Amino acid sequence: TTDIYDDDDADVSTLDDETVAVLGYGSQGHAHALNLNESGVDVVVGLRETSSSRSAAEADGLAVTTPADAVAQATYVSVLVPDTVQPAVYENAIEPNLEVGDTLQFAHGLNIHYDQIEPPEDVDVTMVAPKSPGHLVRRNYENDEGTPGLLAIYRDTTGDAHERALAYAKAIGCTRAGVIETTFREEVESDLFGEQAVLCGGVTALVKHGYETLVDAGYSPEIAYFECLNELKLIVDLMYEGGNMGMWNSVSDTAEYGGLTRGERIVDESVRENMEEVLEEVQNGEFTREWILENQAGRPKYGQLREAEKNHEIEAVGERLRDLFAWAEEAEPEDAEVPAD
Ligand code: NDP
Ligand code: MG
Ligand code: MG
Repeated sequence: TTDIYDDDDADVSTLDDETVAVLGYGSQGHAHALNLNESGVDVVVGLRETSSSRSAAEADGLAVTTPADAVAQATYVSVLVPDTVQPAVYENAIEPNLEVGDTLQFAHGLNIHYDQIEPPEDVDVTMVAPKSPGHLVRRNYENDEGTPGLLAIYRDTTGDAHERALAYAKAIGCTRAGVIETTFREEVESDLFGEQAVLCGGVTALVKHGYETLVDAGYSPEIAYFECLNELKLIVDLMYEGGNMGMWNSVSDTAEYGGLTRGERIVDESVRENMEEVLEEVQNGEFTREWILENQAGRPKYGQLREAEKNHEIEAVGERLRDLFAWAEEAEPEDAEVPAD
């Protein structure tokens, strides 16, 4: 029974006397700044002098200044530069310009949770995190629709942190869809675990193992690509709409019986143990330490791994097939019926 907030729980006029500094004008930054502005909130965008985003923000009719100056003008600071640069931006531009009672807000809790940013005690620290890429946050708002989001309070010195964060969430359109209360710890650890174990890491490893197993056994790369990668979208769409049962109900009985009897043999107890190990590295900070050091060293391991991924045979096969079948994508209506198997 987690708290979920909607439009009735929030009041944008809470921010009437505030100025919001949106630092960064990328994926999230442009969406937050434009949505806040159209919701009647005073916004100033903070970008470095050389920023490639500057002209876009200005062309969109927003006030743009440096990050330091934006923070100085603002009472509410929304930190929407990439996570890896946030500690430096905090040190150089934010901290020197924070005042008692200001709000410092994030869209992801990484730097606060792992102590890479340690704000003063007299500043509220909050999180409003849309659960979607920025261009959708913007598009949904323009279509009078919402984007689900998370809200967390790390520090509430004013006593108003919650009300202000909810007002912000409403102004960017999140309460239209629903805002779930969480903590910095839960948001960060579940996010890192999810992307490592299941969403990005787990699923690509599963696809590659399946593809390699078929190709090594003499099946054609094209067939293996379709079977193990391309069709994944159809299955995930069914899961998205109706959960695992929605998917099982839509595939053939043969697929269902085969999957139910074999699935746990593939992703077995040892995988579960690996997941627990990966979760522990997230919880004890080992992963984050590794990632910080990797960045400080100029990303050598990251570079190598990306190169290897790029050179995997499945990429060349996929590129050829996607070109060949591009017409099918274009012809497909948006909510096309999914084949049953
Ligand atoms: P982006 O990579 O899109 O941010 C790019 C913006 O940051 C640009 O305007 C860029 O301007 C500016 N920027 C980059 N480096 C600096 C710097 N050193 N000083 C000042 N400005 C800089 O970020 P995202 O929108 O992807 O992420 C922002 C936050 O939102 C992160 O905390 C992320 O975890 C979170 N988040 C992101 C989601 C997403 O879908 N992308 C979803 C939910 C949360 P310049 O031209 O100067 O480089
Ligand atoms: Mg200020
Ligand atoms: Mg994530």
